[in-house]
Amino acid sequence: MYNYKEQLEKYEKIEKVGEGTYGVVYKCKIKGTNDYVALKKIRLENEDEGIPSTSIREISILKQLRHPNIVYLMDLIHADKKLYLIFEFMEHDLKKFLDMNNSPLPPELVKNYLYQILIAINFCHSKRILHRDLKPQNLLIDKNGIIKLADFGLARSFGIPIKTLTHEILTLWYRAPEILLGQKEYSTPVDIWSIGLIFYEMAHKRPLFSGDCEIDQIFKIFQMFGTPNENTWKGVTKLPEFKLTFPRFKGKGLNAYNKNIDPVGLDLLNKMIQIDPCKRISAKQALQHPYFDDLKKYFQC
Ligand code: AMP
Repeated sequence: MYNYKEQLEKYEKIEKVGEGTYGVVYKCKIKGTNDYVALKKIRLENEDEGIPSTSIREISILKQLRHPNIVYLMDLIHADKKLYLIFEFMEHDLKKFLDMNNSPLPPELVKNYLYQILIAINFCHSKRILHRDLKPQNLLIDKNGIIKLADFGLARSFGIPIKTLTHEILTLWYRAPEILLGQKEYSTPVDIWSIGLIFYEMAHKRPLFSGDCEIDQIFKIFQMFGTPNENTWKGVTKLPEFKLTFPRFKGKGLNAYNKNIDPVGLDLLNKMIQIDPCKRISAKQALQHPYFDDLKKYFQC
């Protein structure tokens, strides 16, 4: 990592392409070449204190996370108490891509993207790195059918704020029930939950649970699964945000929400979005699911 402002001058700002949880993203040209990068300017609430050194250490580790389905972090520049992350440039994010299409994605593309996402997350989980904030906005795609995970590890380094810096409320739609119920120590199943919901959304072009606040999000989940209890999820009643006064929803079941996913895919989705995190399938197991049988010959894991 460099500590010099001059390093930034290598890049020519072309346009703003997005705004994420931690700051604005610009498309930039590397001066003197025809290559583009995405420059993410990280800004934090208490900017006067600068970027914590632990965060910088953690982010530096991400530079070593090289995988064809993970957006490559090319460089980090630390200047003026701000951190600039330079990533390989990708054409679209999955959210914009879904919005651009008038109908849900074709089933083969849903399966193909899901498989690539699971390969990437399996790679990270095997290195004990969690994403914690997967959503269509931080899945980036290119015109060759490749999908990549972005924003890895940032949630761990900086925490997940409730609002963006421009005070937009961040989406809770992909957040696992154990996080919503205040569990402090969560693990790899939180990412599997989010990927399950992204799977559903690619196939239906609408989110499965679109709550407008934390409690609405939790109740939407309970309306499908039924309100959990000690029989369906051991330990749930001890979680900090669980209330014995919660309404007791009976649960409509996943089938009632599904139109476009075939029975084999639905079996996988059901395993990915088990409400009890201990019962959720792992990325490694998910990759072995029969839903992918016809794809395996094209991919090497
Ligand atoms: P993020 O903070 O990663 O969620 O980024 C916010 C938005 O900026 C994304 O939804 C993308 O539209 C865009 N973006 C982020 N990273 C890249 C990248 N590497 N290439 C192109 N666009 C990006």
